[in-house]
Amino acid sequence: MIIALSSSVSPSQIKEVCRHLREWGYQATILSGLGEQLVGAIAMEETVDEFEAAERVRTLPGVDEVLSVGKPYRLVARESRSEPSKVTVASVVLGDGSFRVIAGPCSIESFDQLIETARFVQRNGASLLRAGAFKPSTSPYGFQGLGREALEMLSTVKTELGIGVVTELMDVRELDSVSRVADMIQIGTRNMQNYDLLREVGRTRIPVLLKRGMMATLEEWLLAAEYIAKEGNESIVLCERGIRTFERHTRNTLDLSAVPAIKELSHLPVIVDPSHGTGRRSLVPPMTLAAAAAGADGALIEVHPDPDSAIKDGMQSLMFEAFARLMLEVRTLCDATRASGLVRKVA
Ligand code: PEP
Ligand code: MN
Repeated sequence: MIIALSSSVSPSQIKEVCRHLREWGYQATILSGLGEQLVGAIAMEETVDEFEAAERVRTLPGVDEVLSVGKPYRLVARESRSEPSKVTVASVVLGDGSFRVIAGPCSIESFDQLIETARFVQRNGASLLRAGAFKPSTSPYGFQGLGREALEMLSTVKTELGIGVVTELMDVRELDSVSRVADMIQIGTRNMQNYDLLREVGRTRIPVLLKRGMMATLEEWLLAAEYIAKEGNESIVLCERGIRTFERHTRNTLDLSAVPAIKELSHLPVIVDPSHGTGRRSLVPPMTLAAAAAGADGALIEVHPDPDSAIKDGMQSLMFEAFARLMLEVRTLCDATRASGLVRKVA
């Protein structure tokens, strides 16, 4: 970290800054030029991490600015692994260079709706089934999901079809019930910064699908992943699902640049959710293909047998034929990419 001192800083204030830094385990070096003075701080055996130390130094008298050079996340940082990590979910590997599609209805509405959708997406090449039992709803009067009853249905469908399942956990009190069924636990956008929830899923060894908060920077998103990793669970897959911008035409603004950016910053696999990212059915296929071209490890796609009568997110859910067509297009694109060697990450 580099600390710029103010022009009126006194020798005793400089001493005080250095004393604090040493106390927190940093080696402090004073750099004096003609008109400016800096303190360079390097972590040796720090007891206060750099993020926190920078915050504290900023408030000390005589300090003008603090530039934090290191990354605040460690376990999920690209530098912490020699290779990108792979996450195995019910024998499906995410992050191995293939483009995996996770699909299903937004919400579990009935057993028939669930199994019909699951059968269709599985037959058309989806690697995992994603379906919601506990649903976050902006309005307290909106549909909240069928809860444990839906988990039962999911469990039956999973056994019957032999497909791995992903479902959302919203409340730590449901960790046991969700863990009994889920091969992968989804943490939704609204809970990306629910640190107690992150810590709890971090204590399990169940893979976690961590959606990006709708207002989260890449750094905040990676710090949320760090919470999970810090508890010992490093089976984390990130999911870009669109961020909130001034644009109203789409439900969110799908930030596809997050995909290659995350690949530079972290070793974790990253997938894209074009359904919530756009909120419009017609935009889902092109953005899925764009996600593959950008190097994503997969996509999360909402599919419904009759989207017009869906309880939730019908507008953005693909009809069966559209999903089947998209899967063919994904395969064609991935084959062509692999053959040409054009895009590094798509296989
Ligand atoms: C969902 O996946 O159905 C969902 C509610 O997503 P998000 O948390 O991204 O809004
Ligand atoms: Mn949804």
